[in-house]
Amino acid sequence: MLGRQSAFEIKHLHSGGVITNYYCTSACGHCLYYCSPRWKKEYIDRETLIEVLKKIESLGCRSVHIGGGEPFLNLAGLKMVIETVRSLRVNIEYVETNSSWFKERESAIETLSSLRERGLSTLLISMSPFHNEHIPFYKVKGVIEACREANISVFPWISEFYPEIAAFDDRTTHTVSEYEEKYGDNYLSRIPSRYWIHFGGRALKTFARVYGTRNYQDTLSANKGGCRELLDVSHFHCDLYGNYIPGLCSGLAIRCDHVGTALSQNDYPFLTTLFREGIGGLGALAASKYGFEPSREYMSKCDLCFDIRKYLVLQVGVSSRELQPRGFYENG
Ligand code: SF4
Ligand code: SF4
Repeated sequence: MLGRQSAFEIKHLHSGGVITNYYCTSACGHCLYYCSPRWKKEYIDRETLIEVLKKIESLGCRSVHIGGGEPFLNLAGLKMVIETVRSLRVNIEYVETNSSWFKERESAIETLSSLRERGLSTLLISMSPFHNEHIPFYKVKGVIEACREANISVFPWISEFYPEIAAFDDRTTHTVSEYEEKYGDNYLSRIPSRYWIHFGGRALKTFARVYGTRNYQDTLSANKGGCRELLDVSHFHCDLYGNYIPGLCSGLAIRCDHVGTALSQNDYPFLTTLFREGIGGLGALAASKYGFEPSREYMSKCDLCFDIRKYLVLQVGVSSRELQPRGFYENG
């Protein structure tokens, strides 16, 4: 149970990860961080990584996963990340990959062996219909096989999709519509009951057509009270810019060095309002101070939250440490 604390403060961290980069070869329909090839090619540096890891450790968490974006798009950077994490005696649970970097067997074994030498023991290999819209499945199969040769454990996420994806031609990509044709019209709507999806980022757009939308007032009426989700530390992330992402609320940020202290309303007006008053508070603040007017219907309070924040960043030009990274809004 999350406590009923009144000040917004992250007091300890349980389990989380480091986002090395947001650029990605894919643009999956469920991506929480709106990753895609359109992002700047920026990768975490050693100094930021050390700052992030020290903060994570100081709040009681001694193991992390490494994800992106696609971490393998900067192999030298990934090697540095693995070496640095290990040198600070923090455990790496796994590194995530979408396998798009696979070219052929020998070079994949070489790449993975070089990471194994630095301490990588488990690779989370993404496999889903969303990934398969952008990444041919032969690459995924190739990385699985190369892991065997390089003595790296495979954490398939998720293996339940394997036979469904493997039933298509693995040399090319396949759209979700093809999956719907083959496995039934309700294929997309059944996915959230089979696969963990957080309804933020691009997932909001993808699933709005499945779950429907409602107007601004109804969205507010259905979501009274503060967003306690912001306190969730069960699967937290810190990114390459030194941001801590509260809850799984992508596009919101606490500067890493402020995690572990009570956030002030002065420094974090949007986050403290969301924490205390929820989406109703953010809506009222955005309307009275920045002239926000709803221009569409919303799948959920998080969809409305994103729309308001995007308006603040891109239309009003609000430059805030809380509404980060800016690329999330530019690419969203
Ligand atoms: S879900 Fe993963 S592979 Fe897909 S766009 Fe996001 S970061 Fe890239
Ligand atoms: S409404 Fe905003 S702050 Fe609240 S849970 Fe959703 S994304 Fe997070």
